[in-house]
Amino acid sequence: MNNKLISFVRDIYQTNDFIPLHAPTFAGNEKKYVTDTIDSTFVSSVGKYVEDFEKHIEFYTGTAKAVATVNGTAALHTALYMAGVKAGDLVITQALTFVATCNALYHMGAEPIFVDVSKVSLGLCPKATAEYLDANAKLNSDGECIHKKTGQHIKAIVPMHTFGHPVELDELLTVCLRWNIVLVEDAAESLGSFYKGKHTGTIGDFSAISFNGNKVITTGGGGMILCKSFDDGVHTRHITTTAKVPHPYEFYHDEPGFNYRLPNLNAALGCAQMEVLPEFLKQKRILAEQYKTLFSGSDFQFVAEPRYAQSNYWLNAIICPDTENRNSLLKETNKQGVMTRPIWQLMHRLPMFKNALKGDLTVSEWVEGHLINLPSSPVYLGVE
Ligand SMILES: *Cc1c(COP(=O)(O)O)cnc(C)c1O
Repeated sequence: MNNKLISFVRDIYQTNDFIPLHAPTFAGNEKKYVTDTIDSTFVSSVGKYVEDFEKHIEFYTGTAKAVATVNGTAALHTALYMAGVKAGDLVITQALTFVATCNALYHMGAEPIFVDVSKVSLGLCPKATAEYLDANAKLNSDGECIHKKTGQHIKAIVPMHTFGHPVELDELLTVCLRWNIVLVEDAAESLGSFYKGKHTGTIGDFSAISFNGNKVITTGGGGMILCKSFDDGVHTRHITTTAKVPHPYEFYHDEPGFNYRLPNLNAALGCAQMEVLPEFLKQKRILAEQYKTLFSGSDFQFVAEPRYAQSNYWLNAIICPDTENRNSLLKETNKQGVMTRPIWQLMHRLPMFKNALKGDLTVSEWVEGHLINLPSSPVYLGVE
């Protein structure tokens, strides 16, 4: 399989150079819009592209309000803050995620509870979440969800749409309602992914998207908070911009704020990238189909989108028959300049989260030992 995969990937990208996992593609109005911000001198927090970019995202996702931020971690931090997560609170999330999910919690003084992922989505498993809560939580007289052993408030559930594959959101929402917990989606990887026709990130009260250089589209660095309620969105914008009360010259701030606003320079890139997003997604689906065909009939299993969802196929992935095969494939492909990667080491193995509360993580551990990500940049041939 090793050589078959390498020649397949080289054939797709038509190059003998190094092939990265996911590279940015600029084939639209990127230069034009970025140059425009420089010509206008509005490169920083004021400028029309920030608002245009937010409008693009609102229109595309159907969210009530989108607020642009400096990166996805900042978006997640703000989303959790808006969801009411405070120091000492517990937040249920995946051990199988990128570290940013947990870093955002950590810096609020909150702590993660790691719950297993589902084999269907590779994201937070609703059944495992319900089982964890049944065994470990109670509702107090105020209706708050309390961890029985530690007495801490379990405030939010943060599923992550792994590689763009949407988690089972209806089922998670049922758990949230039963236990009076807020749903915050880490949709960092899932711009362009839909759950039963709804864009990911629009089901939870708040969610976060990332536009880092390796994501589906990029602003260099950047993020977006999606707010289900318009009023929450207005408040979210307020706190990401130092909570300054508008006034022609006075400086007055009415609550603690963040300086998380996306610069206009980056937003310009985002506006141009949004114009080509549909084409990227089309190309990425074609590529996913090609990988699926390549691995069909082999003992490597292609990770396909869940039946209830449409994935953006941000990163293609396969499940190897065993860890030995996985290691050999990783070694050989990388040696030959075709980048592949194992999944992130599970969060509860990292020094700062090793003492975190956790449920059974059988599926997460199985995925950790078997999964490989494959080169997934859209094969994009320029503007139509
Ligand atoms: C990319 C990513 C983030 C946030 O990324 P930034 O680099 O801060 O934009 C958060 N969570 C997950 C799962 C991610 O993949």
